[in-house]
Amino acid sequence: MLMMKDIIDDKNPRLREKSELLTFPLTPEQKTLAEDMLTYLKYSQDDELAQKYGLRAGVGLAAPQVNQLLRMVAIHTIDENEKEHSFVLVNPKIVSHSEEKTYLRDGEGCLSVNYDVEGITPRFSRITVEAFDVDGNKLSLRFRDFMAIVLQHEIDHLDGVLFYDHINPKLEPMIKAKAKGI
Ligand code: ZN
Repeated sequence: MLMMKDIIDDKNPRLREKSELLTFPLTPEQKTLAEDMLTYLKYSQDDELAQKYGLRAGVGLAAPQVNQLLRMVAIHTIDENEKEHSFVLVNPKIVSHSEEKTYLRDGEGCLSVNYDVEGITPRFSRITVEAFDVDGNKLSLRFRDFMAIVLQHEIDHLDGVLFYDHINPKLEPMIKAKAKGI
């Protein structure tokens, strides 16, 4: 089981490295990693388990955050329509996106950033992602609004990018005027 001590923070330079593509079939270790990442997110959102194991709540986790430089992300969350999304994507890639941007009004957070960061992170409102599931089945998925933000945040981790890299106080008035805050 993954614990907080397994999650590296932004002081660790490995978080800034580019992760590698996985090849199929995944190794048993890679499949276990996928399960463990999803389990961490589920447990972290359960008050009792989060307290028991001292887990900080998160809706997404990328493999480099647990010090594995592999292109794999886990998501476990509920969208604005109360729909649950719980999955692992292998080798996810954004293949198209809207012109329109969106952002989280309260700013983004990250399990690898243990302090508050002021500012908004502009994201595309709608994205199409191509990826594989853990069994190697090819997927083409569309995300919008909150889910699109979560996916862009996690996929950024695979290229060593953190949410605050996108923050630019000078551009914020323009972004707020044009983009939809959620
Ligand atoms: Zn993050």
